[in-house]
Amino acid sequence: MDRFALNFEDGGRLALRDKRRLSRAVLDPDLSRLGPDAAEATRVDFGRLGQGATPVKARLLDQSRIAGVGNLLADETLWRARIDPRRPAGELADEDLDVLRRALRAATRDAIRKGGVHTGDLIAERRRGGRCPRCGATLERAKVGGRTTFWCPADQAA
Ligand SMILES: [Zn+2]
Repeated sequence: MDRFALNFEDGGRLALRDKRRLSRAVLDPDLSRLGPDAAEATRVDFGRLGQGATPVKARLLDQSRIAGVGNLLADETLWRARIDPRRPAGELADEDLDVLRRALRAATRDAIRKGGVHTGDLIAERRRGGRCPRCGATLERAKVGGRTTFWCPADQAA
C-alpha cells in the first residue's frame, strides 16, 4: 500500500511504499534544519559530529548534523571505518573523523552506483550469526541509538 503519492498532470505518479512504516513525507520542509548532504559533508561538518557522550552511530543518524544517513548506511560506514558504533562521539580524534568522513563518502557513492544501501558489503551479513566480510568474526548485534546495529567485534574495537 502507498503511504504517500503524487499524481502528475501528464499521468505520471510518484509513490512512497514502505512496509515497515519508518519513512515519512514532508511537504514544503524546512531545509534549514537539515545538516549538509552525506556525500558532501566537509571536515568542519564532521568536527560537529564528534562532540559529547552520544554514540557515534546515533550522531551519524542525526539528520540535523549530516543529512541522508539511514540505519544500513551508518552500519556500513562504521564497519568500513573500523569504528565501534557505541563509541562516544566526543572521544573520536581528528584522524578518526577523517577516516569516518572518507568511509561515508565512499559508502554513499557505492550505494548510488550499485542501486541502494542494501548493496553494501556488510549488509548481507546483518543477521544473527552473520560474519564479518573482512575477517570472518561473528558480528555483534545490539540496539545503538534506538536502532538495531551490527558490527565486527574484532576490527571495530573501541
Ligand atoms: Zn572483522
